[in-house]
Amino acid sequence: MLLPSALFLLLCVLQLAACAEDFYKLLGIDRQASEREIKRAYRTLSKKYHPDKNPGDESAKQKFVEVAEAYEALSNPETRKVYDQYGHDGLKQRQQGGGGQHHDPFDLFSRFFGGGGHFGHQTGQRRGPDVEVRVAVPLKDFYNGHSTEFQLEKQQICDECEGSGSADGKVETCSVCGGHGIQIKKHMLAPGIYQQVQMQCDACGGQGKTIKHKCPVCGGSRVVRKVNTFPLNIERGAPKGQQIKYENDADESPDWVAGDLHVTLVEKEPDLVEDNELKVDGTFFRRKGDDLYWKELLSLREAWMGDWTRNLTHLDGHVVQLSRKRGETIQPGQVERVAGEGMPKWHEDGDSVYHKTEFGDLLVEYTVVLPDKMDKTMEKEFWELWDKWRKKKGVDLQKDSGRPQPPIAPGAKDEL
Ligand SMILES: [Zn+2]
Ligand SMILES: [Zn+2]
Repeated sequence: MLLPSALFLLLCVLQLAACAEDFYKLLGIDRQASEREIKRAYRTLSKKYHPDKNPGDESAKQKFVEVAEAYEALSNPETRKVYDQYGHDGLKQRQQGGGGQHHDPFDLFSRFFGGGGHFGHQTGQRRGPDVEVRVAVPLKDFYNGHSTEFQLEKQQICDECEGSGSADGKVETCSVCGGHGIQIKKHMLAPGIYQQVQMQCDACGGQGKTIKHKCPVCGGSRVVRKVNTFPLNIERGAPKGQQIKYENDADESPDWVAGDLHVTLVEKEPDLVEDNELKVDGTFFRRKGDDLYWKELLSLREAWMGDWTRNLTHLDGHVVQLSRKRGETIQPGQVERVAGEGMPKWHEDGDSVYHKTEFGDLLVEYTVVLPDKMDKTMEKEFWELWDKWRKKKGVDLQKDSGRPQPPIAPGAKDEL
């Protein structure tokens, strides 16, 4: 018995030399992966490497075949066990012994996504409807860029029956219509006069097929609705309303090639409760194109006498300092433009070494809040000070009010 085990060892070495990629690695899953995880990995990768999406790319084609092979091996508990114990060679031996089945990778693909295993633009296959959704994204993610995901419920080919609708995999030709899906019915229009009408077959609902034992998961409908998770990459400075296309990710059906899913990015309204814990002023910035807007409150003292500082926390945490020196005034409603503190300007090539990211501006509008009531002593002291000052300077109250000068009426008394 020494010889066979030595031979097996040798085979293992040879296999290593041939460098067949580990199925788990290929699918990007670990050895404990559940059936669902295996399916999910196959769904993602088979679409990514499908030859229709990578025309002329031989390595993608190779990957597409390998992914299908890996899925076939790991989705069946029996072959998975063999693979786990004996690897690729174990599977090969099993196949030679007649225990394996090798499917066309396109067949496998069509079981998952419908259609004929192709994306079908060129083959003239029926295409399902496109789906449009809006995904709300906080301003922070538009500013910094963010790789995230979103969930969407969509129609999927039933995993349980692989789109056949049958519990035992048996689908029979409808005996009523003979598989045509239509019935010819005769209507009597008048005695002796008949009209032939083509109608959808009642027995099979026009499918031409009947199922005795319906799949318990989809109830024979061949499709299920499921919540799917999609990756979402928000680029830095992405414009509001940007559309991202997910090819062939719309509702699936065995009868068509899935249409495209179009995602529109919209800005999420900041939530006072949810977003306040971030303590970032930037959360409440308003965006207009590449510029950001912010309202800053100043007290009367600050607006009039200056000598104040504000530290605004921007969307990535950096601080924008606003300040005035003593004696520098701000008018209510005055707008200050802080150059380069707006949104990063989106570039279709993304961030790259070939260009520097430019930024829009931050526009700060000042609101001045006057005190409701003045302290009595303070009011008295201020009044006296002002009165003394204006007498000394000869301030014209009419002029000081900022209203247009009325023509001076003869004999009118000067207020001063
Ligand atoms: Zn029928
Ligand atoms: Zn089913």
